[in-house]
Amino acid sequence: MKSFKVIYRDKLSQARVGILKLGNLEIFTPLFLPVGTLGVVKTLSYEELKEIGVDAFIANAYHLYLRPGEEILKKFCGLKKFINWDRGLFTDSGGFQIYSLKELKKITEEGVEFRSHIDGSKHFFTPEKVIEFQAVIGSDVSVCLDECVEYPVDYNYAKRSVEVTTLWAKRCKKKFDEIKKNNFGNSQNQLLFGIIQGSVYKDLRKKSIEEILSIGFDGYAIGGLAVGEPRELMWEVVNFISENLSQDEVKYIMGIGELEDIFFCIEKGYDIMDCVLPTRNGRNGQALTSFGKINIKNSKYSTDESPLDNECSCFVCKNYSRALLHHYYKSQELLVLKLMSYHNVYFIINLFKTIREKIIKDEFLRFKEDFLKKFNSEIC
Ligand SMILES: [Zn+2]
Repeated sequence: MKSFKVIYRDKLSQARVGILKLGNLEIFTPLFLPVGTLGVVKTLSYEELKEIGVDAFIANAYHLYLRPGEEILKKFCGLKKFINWDRGLFTDSGGFQIYSLKELKKITEEGVEFRSHIDGSKHFFTPEKVIEFQAVIGSDVSVCLDECVEYPVDYNYAKRSVEVTTLWAKRCKKKFDEIKKNNFGNSQNQLLFGIIQGSVYKDLRKKSIEEILSIGFDGYAIGGLAVGEPRELMWEVVNFISENLSQDEVKYIMGIGELEDIFFCIEKGYDIMDCVLPTRNGRNGQALTSFGKINIKNSKYSTDESPLDNECSCFVCKNYSRALLHHYYKSQELLVLKLMSYHNVYFIINLFKTIREKIIKDEFLRFKEDFLKKFNSEIC
């Protein structure tokens, strides 16, 4: 049975509402995944994530492999049991993190050799190993090991990375099917998403789409975007990929977290997004509000009695003034890191909920325009 079904298509754009079936869970898309690299969304408890309405988050195989490691995860029958989380869990292969190591890695056709960023110890990831480890983690959605390139990258290097990504995708799929057949791992219903690469080169993106699609996966992730390229170029590639991918498949665009980009990707028919921005920016004092971003460190908030966002109904906005949050931040009180993260995750999860409601009413484009107009007004 197919794990993804579109239940409503917007009449005025490619935006759609779908249901992603993860074992016994049914999750609505468009879906935003907060990032919980090590199995925790920084500063937030699982009870708080549930209270906010988070349906799923994404953890990282590279980081979990180094800490807590395979033995602990095996002992506890996977990450979901270890952390007592009964909602959706995605895992990233860790490819992106390994490639960010710069001096600490060596890529061959066989796999990628890297040194731990923690203690310098040497490790070797093959596509098979990454699939096997994600089965140990027991995530609901796993992804293939891919080669993510930085921006800018020359054409020939990007072409080679597409070839490696396809080769690895085939090996990942083969291993994944073997694992399923042998009932190995901690998620009997785990899905595997292929990853499309090709940097900003359209012919390479097309080649990658065709090759990854022909292998056949439960869903398709788009990697290698939002890595420093100008927004217009990114949007051009996002649009191109959307036009060349089947409209029946679930599409996950990785690393997208700016609100303008989120709206654009949803308009172009993407279903899933993840980003560290709401939590990372929150910890740096930045809050998302209906009237734009504000930085609570700014001294103009030291006497401001209003909440972060007077249109938000999260407990932070109900109980804490900007002045109090400013005071906590200035005094380096740890609580402020949680309060800011809580509000930002609440804000974005509720934005996605509203977007789904608007799509079903064919009001998505109007909502997008009104929302961004207000968001960019910066009258906060
Ligand atoms: Zn709030």
